[in-house]
Amino acid sequence: MQVKKHLTDIPIRYMKGVGPKMASILTKVGIDNVLDLMYYLPRRYEDRSNIVAMKDISPGESQAFIGEVLKMNSFRARTGTVIFELFVGEGTKKVCAIWYNQPFMSKMFSKGQKVMLYGKVEKAGRLNITHPAFEILEEGQDEIPLEIGRIVPVYPLTESLTQKYIRKLIFHATKTYSKEVNDILPVQLRGRKKLVDSEFAVRNIHFPCSDKSLEKAYNRLVFEEFFMLQTIMAFRRRQIRKKGIKHEAHEGLLHSFGNLFDFELTNAQKKCIKDIEKDMSSERPMYRLLQGDVGSGKTVVAMYAALIASKGGYQTTVMVPTEILARQHYITFSKIFMPLGMNVRLLVNGMDQTLRDTIEKEISLGEADIVVGTHALIQDNIKYGKLGLVIVDEQHKFGVDQRQALRKKGKDPDMLVMTATPIPRSLVLTVFGDMDISSMKEKPAGRDQVSTYWVDEGKRDSVYSFIRGEVKEGRQAFIVYPRIKQTQNSELRSAEHMAQHLKEEIFPELNVALVHGRLKSDEKEKVMEDFRNKKYDVLVATTVIEVGVDIPNVTVMVVEHAERYGLAQLHQLRGRIGRGKYASYCILLGEVKTDASYERLVTMEKTSDGFEISRKDLEIRGPGEFLGTKQSGLPELRFGNIAKDFSIMEEAREEAFSLVEEDPGLERPGNIEFKKAIEERFGIKVIK
Ligand code: ADP
Ligand code: MG
Repeated sequence: MQVKKHLTDIPIRYMKGVGPKMASILTKVGIDNVLDLMYYLPRRYEDRSNIVAMKDISPGESQAFIGEVLKMNSFRARTGTVIFELFVGEGTKKVCAIWYNQPFMSKMFSKGQKVMLYGKVEKAGRLNITHPAFEILEEGQDEIPLEIGRIVPVYPLTESLTQKYIRKLIFHATKTYSKEVNDILPVQLRGRKKLVDSEFAVRNIHFPCSDKSLEKAYNRLVFEEFFMLQTIMAFRRRQIRKKGIKHEAHEGLLHSFGNLFDFELTNAQKKCIKDIEKDMSSERPMYRLLQGDVGSGKTVVAMYAALIASKGGYQTTVMVPTEILARQHYITFSKIFMPLGMNVRLLVNGMDQTLRDTIEKEISLGEADIVVGTHALIQDNIKYGKLGLVIVDEQHKFGVDQRQALRKKGKDPDMLVMTATPIPRSLVLTVFGDMDISSMKEKPAGRDQVSTYWVDEGKRDSVYSFIRGEVKEGRQAFIVYPRIKQTQNSELRSAEHMAQHLKEEIFPELNVALVHGRLKSDEKEKVMEDFRNKKYDVLVATTVIEVGVDIPNVTVMVVEHAERYGLAQLHQLRGRIGRGKYASYCILLGEVKTDASYERLVTMEKTSDGFEISRKDLEIRGPGEFLGTKQSGLPELRFGNIAKDFSIMEEAREEAFSLVEEDPGLERPGNIEFKKAIEERFGIKVIK
């Protein structure tokens, strides 16, 4: 919604009825000027439009009615409470309105006045209504009163802000200024989509004449907001269209690549590889999001992309969120690529300085063909000799800026972003709306389902014997704790403490190891490697093993204090097992304390479909929490609800992309207002 510049220039304190004190209260809820005020959206609405005759009042229901002030009573009860009673009647029917501790109320009314009341009427011998909303009807009043007789907005409040006050203020603002709202949507678009004009929208979002008008107002405002957002996406997409690297994926490459593995690629993998091949061999830089559930085999796809890049002598860099995962990918990539004569290198922060210097040099000279690492890869001093492909794995652990920083290390390199948290489409379009998308729903064949059980403390011993049984069969287990160390006043079990306890008292006959984020780099490496080589049976860990870890022999994942984790995180943790040919078991040990935690654990038991889980997760947490980091790229929305208004988003997207296609500079007369609005809201300059 764009309003002529001057509406944002009218400070809120210039509004009638706003003194300096009120102005500072309003500022706290984000209202600095008239425009902000008009955008201060109701949290919900109360339908007080239906006014009943007093003889039809039914106790127990909220209703609006009109009556005459018959009598007033003000007195102090024995408890000290000041009570004001207002008797209102029509015909023979009488209702007593009661206010507690609001002595000023007695000054509001006078006998014989007509008043409108709204609230729940209760029968207690007589009919009472406590703290009703009210309107005093003036002689000859032609407007519908604000508080009753209409659909009334209910705003979010803080401390000294009252509903009545803000309603009046906004009513006044819409009355005075809604005509000055500048309609930024191109007229033809508005006609085509049957959207109401902005004046109507602003008035009716606050004081709707009917449910229908409210819906129209809401749809218009949401459409407009999504339309702006998607136009930005369309612009970004256009930007990436410029010239990049044209890689060569020659015929037969996929075939020889397939021969490097002792398994067949899944159809989903082949399909994604095709997408990537097409992107990379075109001049336009690849800008693709690969979504695949945990265990779907994304690494193989990434390796293929790296192979294509290497054919033209280009470097690939692979950024992952943890050192443990970096080392694992380093091993996986090395096994495949070193025998082909390619140099695979690892770059993480904890490594030996001399080694690091050497590797940095190899990177800058273009001698390192594939560099796997953590955030270390985006440090300023790292320069790449011939970077052609950028891969970000487990992208949800990174912010937009970090992904972009990696991309900027090269000159328009191709980019592949991978995520194991399938993101619902509504969010994908909001946050990754400028990327192409490939999805892998299929997992490699022969994987047994992971069975998930949520158990409580009483089952602890059986959980331990179950682990013994699996170890006897040659398998291994993870046990995850939320903390490294025990802290005072905390009932949380910690990894360090439990590792000791399990080693000495529970599993004296087994080999138990411990890994967590605060171990030294080489210690972590040693534990993980020894565990991978089956020197240990049980690995006690913190969530450092949450992402990416791939050790197919592990068949048990125990998560302690499971009620504390979010759904996505539990699903990721569970994703560490069921990666080989053995049946696997995820055991969630948890005491449920809230509805949300119950919901999460039950969902985990019920489904292992990552897409299903994300939908549920988004529903429970909302988009902000779902995406995690502040840096997630989620725009601040005033009107739209990403999940609820998804169909509007899709329509807006289609329109926005064709708009930018047809008029890339937004220069046509009908689009100029829109262009200005976008530039203002997003602080960008629209250039063709
Ligand atoms: P994720 O998608 O979670 O990153 P990975 O790439 O780590 O999954 O792959 C999980 C496991 O599945 C690895 O051990 C990998 O070797 C194996 N794998 C990958 N593709 C296939 C396939 N087509 N058939 C069988 N196993 C596969
Ligand atoms: Mg992975």
